[in-house]
Amino acid sequence: MERLCPVHATPMESRGKLWHCETCAANYRVRGECADCGSELEKIAACGASNWWCNRCNELKSKSKVKTELVAA
Ligand SMILES: [Zn+2]
Ligand SMILES: [Zn+2]
Repeated sequence: MERLCPVHATPMESRGKLWHCETCAANYRVRGECADCGSELEKIAACGASNWWCNRCNELKSKSKVKTELVAA
């Protein structure tokens, strides 16, 4: 999976949980938002797959219910 810099639209380098843009010299992280209630989701990595947990809905969200965006880390 590749992520593009939100400023430059250039491919970024994966650094663990973060993404690094050479041009910005900055790191970005993926922020997930619940499509049902709009609150920020917690990313849970398990068995190689990542899931999103909503504290407000108190349930795991499938990818189709998650809006993701890149924010400065
Ligand atoms: Zn950039
Ligand atoms: Zn929710």
